[in-house]
Amino acid sequence: MINVDLHCLVNDSEGCMGVLWAFTSQMEKGWIWPTLEDQELSWSDYQVPSLWSKIVMEPTVVSTSTLANDEFDRNVPRICGVCGDKATGFHFNAMTCEGCKGFFRRSMKRKASFTCPFNGSCTITKDNRRHCQACRLKRCVDIGMMKEFILTDEEVQRKKDLIQRRKDEEAQREAEREARRPKLTDEQSQTIATLVEAHHKTYDDSYSDFCRFRPPVRDGPVTRSASRAASLHSLSDASSDSFSHSPESVDTKMNFNNLLLMYHEQGSSPDSSEEEGSSLSMLPHLADLVSYSIQKVIGFAKMIPGFRELTAEDQIALLKSSAIEVIMLRSNQSFNLEDMSWSCGAPDFKYQISDVTKAGHTLDLLEPLVKFQVGLKKLNLQEEEHVLLMAICLLSPDRPGVQDHARIEALQDRLSETLQAYIQLHHPGGRLRYAKMIQKLADLRSLNEEHSKQYRLLSFQPEHSMQLTPLVLEVFGSEVS
Ligand SMILES: [Zn+2]
Ligand SMILES: [Zn+2]
Repeated sequence: MINVDLHCLVNDSEGCMGVLWAFTSQMEKGWIWPTLEDQELSWSDYQVPSLWSKIVMEPTVVSTSTLANDEFDRNVPRICGVCGDKATGFHFNAMTCEGCKGFFRRSMKRKASFTCPFNGSCTITKDNRRHCQACRLKRCVDIGMMKEFILTDEEVQRKKDLIQRRKDEEAQREAEREARRPKLTDEQSQTIATLVEAHHKTYDDSYSDFCRFRPPVRDGPVTRSASRAASLHSLSDASSDSFSHSPESVDTKMNFNNLLLMYHEQGSSPDSSEEEGSSLSMLPHLADLVSYSIQKVIGFAKMIPGFRELTAEDQIALLKSSAIEVIMLRSNQSFNLEDMSWSCGAPDFKYQISDVTKAGHTLDLLEPLVKFQVGLKKLNLQEEEHVLLMAICLLSPDRPGVQDHARIEALQDRLSETLQAYIQLHHPGGRLRYAKMIQKLADLRSLNEEHSKQYRLLSFQPEHSMQLTPLVLEVFGSEVS
């Protein structure tokens, strides 16, 4: 019996196989539990649902030496070897119904001895199986049912305990998983909601205001820088056509490599400002666009939790130094990997690199800028991450002119923690994601530096600085004395 005990516990031949089969085959048919006539152990004794999940999760529990999984052909009718009723599986070594299973167990436990009231050869059927216990029991033994497979009360209790223990352990594991699962605090969720709303209020993705800017003029005298950039674009356009169905990786890289190759083949000497002359045909439109964007960045900044509580001086210091970086960040939303352009609605408002060169910027800025846009785009930021990154950029304590360094650092730390918590929650395993995003902020610093350099050159020339708006002059600085 001790061997049997172990065998039963491991292989569940006590009836659980039958339970499993009943579940798998009958529940699909909307079948109702059978009447549990003459059962000692009720279904609930087996704690069926938890056992079911146990069995499903641990296939080793299911397999028995007598029954392979493929023997469970659900289409074959399963008949009780004793009475012909619907069987629920192998019980005590034979395929039987629940009724005959219970009958055999009880008879064995009671060591019952029956006598046939007839001639000892009754045919047992579903309907008459209670009429002759002697022939029913004889039939049980004939088809191979063995009392060695019956669990004692002690063993049943032990098995129940085992099932309960597994259930408890599983509940414990689930509780531990739940505790480890990263969560956002209410404050963090609120911050994210606030920033997303702030972004929606300050970023119009229909770009409907763009028609109010001074119009873009692309066909002015062609500058060397502009014509070079244009030729790069026709090249990247061509290659994007041939790869137009897989815009993500390969063609993007090719476009960009073509762009760099062309750039370096043609030499990287900066264009002389004399040559540009007064031909910056895109400057008025792009100056208005930048001016407009600065307003929106200011609007966004004001809605960042804690920003308005800073002194006016610190607010201005942060905005002046980060505005161009946040503009570069937010412009990623319109950036198009297929043709390396910023597409802002109408065809007129699709900006190529060559357009920006017609506003006085050179490839010394535009090359790393496009590279930055490609890298950022490939991070595939969710809007929540995008807005957090902009807020973190804006609240950098190490900007020139900042007074209350500690306070701004505390605000930025809170935003960084929120971003990290958000990433843990939404990109489990994406540990590098945060680092990559922060790296983008470092890239923005050098872009900012190059932009300042080029802006300074531009604003030195009155015929160009007069095209700028007061807000641009205010934020980026006026070099005209
Ligand atoms: Zn039966
Ligand atoms: Zn009989």
